[in-house]
Amino acid sequence: MPARDSDYSASDSDSDAPLPSSSRAVAASSSRGAAAGASAAAAPAGAARGTRGAVAAGAKAKKKGKGKDAGYAWEATFKRSWDAVREDGEGGLEATVRGMLEAGKRRRTRPPAYAVQRGIIRHLVLVLDLSESMSERDLRPNRHALSLQYAREFVTEYFDQNPIGQLGIIATRDGIAERLGLLGGNVVDHLAALSNARRLEPKGEPSLQNALEMARSSLAHLPASSSREILVLFGSLTTCDPSNIHTTIDTLAEERIRVSMVCLAAEVKVCKTVTVRTGGTFAVALNEGHLRDVLFQSVAPPEILAPKRNPAQAEDAAPDGGDLLCMAFPLRLPAAAPASLCACHGRIKSGTAFVCPRCEAKVCDVPTDCPICGMTIVLSTHLARSYHHLFPTPYYAPVEWDDLDAAEDVSPTCHGCSTPFAIDTPAARAAAVSSENVSPTGRYACEACGEHFCIECDTFVHETLHVCPGCA
Ligand SMILES: [Zn+2]
Ligand SMILES: [Zn+2]
Ligand SMILES: [Zn+2]
Ligand SMILES: [Zn+2]
Repeated sequence: MPARDSDYSASDSDSDAPLPSSSRAVAASSSRGAAAGASAAAAPAGAARGTRGAVAAGAKAKKKGKGKDAGYAWEATFKRSWDAVREDGEGGLEATVRGMLEAGKRRRTRPPAYAVQRGIIRHLVLVLDLSESMSERDLRPNRHALSLQYAREFVTEYFDQNPIGQLGIIATRDGIAERLGLLGGNVVDHLAALSNARRLEPKGEPSLQNALEMARSSLAHLPASSSREILVLFGSLTTCDPSNIHTTIDTLAEERIRVSMVCLAAEVKVCKTVTVRTGGTFAVALNEGHLRDVLFQSVAPPEILAPKRNPAQAEDAAPDGGDLLCMAFPLRLPAAAPASLCACHGRIKSGTAFVCPRCEAKVCDVPTDCPICGMTIVLSTHLARSYHHLFPTPYYAPVEWDDLDAAEDVSPTCHGCSTPFAIDTPAARAAAVSSENVSPTGRYACEACGEHFCIECDTFVHETLHVCPGCA
């Protein structure tokens, strides 16, 4: 039997070894355009799936071991995920599982380590890959269904968090790009475009260059005061482009259009290059949950990319006060108003509509740019809802047992939902979760008002409410 065991392990490592190199070949060839793309597409689908972990892990290892010779991921010792799990005194796993869940929630509410400037007027084009590779079933039920579902959730969440932002949707398949939704602020139109499953059937090869060019053409005319972003959800390992994609990348970088990419299969060199050159983010989805996490990172406005300035000039210049922007609050027409011509669709319409205060053109929906005079028309509620990105809710810091003992007169219940907190007993201390940024006491104290909140209230306040109930 020992002989068989070693046979098994030897063949196992043999079969693993060539995979990453083959995937590197695929990744490298994809940047060379259509002809190379076709040969790479012929590689068995199994190989692509098998290399996903290795390539993603390889990228991580490379990042960690910057500067020194870190070697390849498949040369490192295998880290077992179950080593991190520890049983409590009675052999249960409850505390560990709770700790992992809480750590996940806290990761989302953590503030950036430094002050950032964010633009609340966003223009984002969502690019969906609808190529043959999206029918792969490595993400359940398949990449296509899952990415459409997440795209719908993303659109809803995007407009919830960025009410004065605009969004457009572009799909790429059969070597061309198609416009699914025009750049605009109407959630219903976008959701309808993403729900028509028959229209969105995956086929052929994607064309990253065509999609980026189309997205660029819908963003290029916008003023520099608004953020211009492209978010690509890419499943294929190849791209079928009409000309040199690096010219497109150079133009995007020049026009300061930020491209972020989420790859479903593996890290592809040309995808990474686009994001690095344009200042976007790049991620490879490891599983269904991770895909949702990396996609939803684009819901919050990104930091503003400051134009590179001469340091000597910067000292003389006044500190950045930002540009002033012209905006108008429209007049709302009641539902009973007589039918009249709308400027956005060019049709006679009745029902609720809005009137631009500058040129008195009628528009059907706000927020929008007036089609006649170009004025940005928003409601005051839209502005108020965008405000929290500029003035973030105070951070809730975890409270340690010792802090609790030192403090006098602490509330026994959560300030938000009145759930009683754990009482300081040896048993409670033993059962407590001890992981980074997670409170062992279950209490999180607001930095501004000092009130204590539970983890559920912490998540709700920072992700949905955006106002601290203690400070308000
Ligand atoms: Zn209209
Ligand atoms: Zn107008
Ligand atoms: Zn609570
Ligand atoms: Zn507070």
